[in-house]
Amino acid sequence: MNSTLKPKQADNDAILVINCGSSSVKFSLIQPATGNTLLSGLAECLLTDDARIKIKIAENKDVIALASPFDHQVALDALVTTLKQQNLTDDIIAVGHRVVHGGEYYAEPTLIDENVEQTIKQLSQLAPLHNPANLIGIKACQNAFASLPQIAIFDTAFHQTMPEKAYLYGLPYHLYKEHGIRRYGFHGTSHYFVANQAAQQLNKPLADCNLISAHLGNGCSVTVIKNGKSVDTSLGMTPVEGVMMGTRSGDVDAGILIHLIERLGYSSEQLDKLINKESGLLGLSQLSNDCRTLEQAMLEDNNAQAKLALEVFCYRIAKSIASFSASLTDLDGLIFTGGIGENSDWVRNEVVKQLSLLNFALCPEKNQATRFGKSGNIAANSARNCWVIATNEEWVIAEQSNALLQQLAR
Ligand code: ADP
Repeated sequence: MNSTLKPKQADNDAILVINCGSSSVKFSLIQPATGNTLLSGLAECLLTDDARIKIKIAENKDVIALASPFDHQVALDALVTTLKQQNLTDDIIAVGHRVVHGGEYYAEPTLIDENVEQTIKQLSQLAPLHNPANLIGIKACQNAFASLPQIAIFDTAFHQTMPEKAYLYGLPYHLYKEHGIRRYGFHGTSHYFVANQAAQQLNKPLADCNLISAHLGNGCSVTVIKNGKSVDTSLGMTPVEGVMMGTRSGDVDAGILIHLIERLGYSSEQLDKLINKESGLLGLSQLSNDCRTLEQAMLEDNNAQAKLALEVFCYRIAKSIASFSASLTDLDGLIFTGGIGENSDWVRNEVVKQLSLLNFALCPEKNQATRFGKSGNIAANSARNCWVIATNEEWVIAEQSNALLQQLAR
């Protein structure tokens, strides 16, 4: 894998990458010099009776059962114990943390000190589910690895290059100036990674590339990249705006929320649950938020509601891609990534067939064959490039943490 890193001092030096979500912790131990992942895993359903942790060391997958329900700290303690048992702790030179919201403060990888921690805490107002969990991960790793630098890689950082006209809402300006109400965008690490990979395919520097990337997972976002920089993205101040997602609504007329409060008596808590947890693919299909389940129901059982949900999902993505083309005068290609983007040939086809005005068209065989971790260009001959690229946010966090360490050592 190509990297923008300076050469590393020692091949076996490794970065521990931590991604603490509200009910999960993803982790990997990555050697930036070789690109090897020495250990990876996931603790999920934290704080419920189903809490569990899976740790993969080389090709062996260990499922460690812990007294449930257990929390982030217990999961991280289990990780540290495994790292020690495997004699891997001595090679760790830093811990890189995914932090969801960096507001307008952080556009670059940042060494975490007390001030940075305070700012991440303050920004919890904008990401109440994510930043507090990220801080738990930071604290736990500070306890476990007191001598190691802790580095924050912000999900919002890549989008800090958006111009005012893209990040401002049509709301009174003082709400932005006094309360930070603006669009920030998320999934920045993923969009940055796949854009770099596309630049390599094009054999030109990222700074010369104009791309649109669609990260389609449980959360979904579309980003437009002009001369290598994010100039607009579909997620906004919170991860609800933009295209429809697994359980999140995406764009709705803001007046609907007032209607729900005034006419149907919704509380803020109920609204929050409605737009974040009960909408999107799940809400429309009344079946599942999982794209695989819906495709199966549509294709095998002729389930009309599943088909409808998937059609709305794809139309909204196509509209978002088409509208973002307004930011560009030239377009090198479209990228699909994330669990759905990397695996669903049906969704890719349904999206791209609505983009023929932009000269997008897929080769059906290549589209069908490029799944389950395979990357490649799936465009039809003479159509505009359309790549499937498996994202690797962990790799970016390791790479950028390592680059910061080298910069600080100079
Ligand atoms: P997250 O945003 O939680 O990281 P992922 O990027 O893992 O999520 O994406 C999860 C989504 O990917 C789910 O909707 C899942 O159904 C979908 N997905 C995974 N594999 C396939 C597949 N083979 N076909 C269609 N959708 C898939």
